[in-house]
Amino acid sequence: MALAVLPTLRAQRAAAPDPAAFDHLLQQLNDGTVAPDSDAAVKRTLAQLHALLPPHDAARERSYGYIYCFLAFQSDASGGVAYARRGVETARQAGDLNAESNFQMCLGNYLIQASGDREALASFDAAVRTAKRLGDPHVIADALTWRGSELSLLGDQAKAMIDLLDAQTAYEKIANAAAPARANLVNIASLYRRMGEYDDAANYLRQALATIGHAKDKQQLLAIDMERGFLAGERGEPAAAVAPLQKALELAREIGPPQSVGSALLAQAEISNQLGQYDTALQQLAEASRIFRSVSDHSNADMLALQSAEAHAGLGQRSLAAQEFQAAAKALASSGNLRYLAELYAARSKNEEALGQTQAALDDLKRMIATNKELEQKTKAQVTTLMRYRFDTARRDLENRRLADEKALQSQQLASLESVRKWQWLAILLGGLLMLGVAWLAYRQLLKSRHLNRLSLLDPLTGISNRRHIDHLLETAIARASQSHEELTVAMLDIDHFKHVNDAHGHPVGDQVLRETARLCQDSMRQHDRFGRVGGEEFLVVLPGTDLEHGVMVAERLRAKVAAAVFAVGDAQIRITVSLGVASLRANESAPGTLVMRADSALYRAKQTGRNRVESA
Ligand code: GH3
Ligand code: MG
Ligand code: MG
Repeated sequence: MALAVLPTLRAQRAAAPDPAAFDHLLQQLNDGTVAPDSDAAVKRTLAQLHALLPPHDAARERSYGYIYCFLAFQSDASGGVAYARRGVETARQAGDLNAESNFQMCLGNYLIQASGDREALASFDAAVRTAKRLGDPHVIADALTWRGSELSLLGDQAKAMIDLLDAQTAYEKIANAAAPARANLVNIASLYRRMGEYDDAANYLRQALATIGHAKDKQQLLAIDMERGFLAGERGEPAAAVAPLQKALELAREIGPPQSVGSALLAQAEISNQLGQYDTALQQLAEASRIFRSVSDHSNADMLALQSAEAHAGLGQRSLAAQEFQAAAKALASSGNLRYLAELYAARSKNEEALGQTQAALDDLKRMIATNKELEQKTKAQVTTLMRYRFDTARRDLENRRLADEKALQSQQLASLESVRKWQWLAILLGGLLMLGVAWLAYRQLLKSRHLNRLSLLDPLTGISNRRHIDHLLETAIARASQSHEELTVAMLDIDHFKHVNDAHGHPVGDQVLRETARLCQDSMRQHDRFGRVGGEEFLVVLPGTDLEHGVMVAERLRAKVAAAVFAVGDAQIRITVSLGVASLRANESAPGTLVMRADSALYRAKQTGRNRVESA
């Protein structure tokens, strides 16, 4: 649309200074009806606006200046910062609040790349303050949109939501603000996604898509496709992210700026990693990082390092991955992004485990759990703030309505009794609202803490008990056995030559085989038996009320079951075997250490004597 609206080069040469035409084009640029979406279109638009500029018109020169600021430095962030700073200064000296606020937005826009999000936020804060002093709803809404998006990036979703919703309300009241209103819907969608409210996010994206209609707004389509990709990825549906991200990449290549291409590639790499396509991920990361470097944009260094580390870890290049995890950890610690930190700790722990650094792996798991907890708490606090804001707004609305009602009552000379009754209703309504809010909050907290508890007990890959949990179950079983003088037997189970499965079929297939093996064993346990994953391809079976002889029989049954199973993964038909070491609790034994050690050495013997066997201590 923007390209069609733009005048041709010839028209431009013919253009002469014309204040009314200048103001008209400026207005169109401000409200997004003209949105140049290629380098050539940007140059054409700027040239035309400049040609219309009347001589010695300082006010319009400043307006031209902030448009120039937004459009001309898309590949030169530090140039943009310098230009914007001068613009802020000039506008301030002239007392031009409109230009000052716009230059502050422009400054923030480039500070994101040049100095980071915190500095950018300060600039957007200033833009909001200046806009409010000016009192122009459109400029206020623009500044709120910038600040809200930045707050959301920084993880402060409640404040972000307030800004974005205020902006949206404002845009919907202003004429000619359809384009920014539409773009803001995508901002709100990504905010909901970052809060983990995926259904709300999807809803807003659908709205944004619906409002595009026939307007071929490519920037907007690009934003929507990127967001759809992120949403699918975070929902754990990476396959559904592939198509939108591919579309986003094509659009970005068509309309630029280079950063958009880099961001699309980076998003693709994240999905490739999730899909286990590590070579593809590395290619996408290489191109993305080349592009970011070419425009001196360092704002994605943390994500590039993290994704690269995950890809190398996936390919089994463990020490290289370890180095990159280190680099990513450093960058992420300074940006403080908890979601990515949690992802990092989980991936790094797996890598350390594979490197045999058990203690480091355990430490990282603990960090992951702590980070996830912190994240949950933060989200909870944000939801509370948001609830309070909504409650305040509802109360304000009620108050306004009450005032209107009262006026009507007075003019109709109705009895004061009536108004007292209204007050009572209002109080009941407010109380009801408050209680609803509190109940809703309590319910959500309950759900979240349950979810978190489950997460910290279960192994994410197989869904059975993780090491921490099975250790705990074993301790409980030992305590119970020694109290009631019952038998207790444990079996250590290890998959034979599992490395070969990974080497022959790839790591994702290995994961699948691990899952299926765990399920097969779990399904053949009795009700009181306990089963958990203690390491890569090692499992512990706890058999309360069972002596050594029967324990060996159970182990033998498991061994035979696995040996007989055929795992169909894709086209491959995979067969594996397992070895088991069985040991029983001794009369005066009260700690799990020695018991597990005996099972371990029996397992070692089973491996030594040919595998696919059961040995007992
Ligand atoms: P052995 O019969 O002596 O036990 O041989 P093995 O190859 O099974 O034992 P080794 O300890 O040498 O290798 C274990 C392998 O298990 C290496 C590692 O890549 C793989 N592994 C560990 N955890 C995972 C995982 O979560 N997923 C996949 N796919 N593989 C894993
Ligand atoms: Mg093994
Ligand atoms: Mg092993």
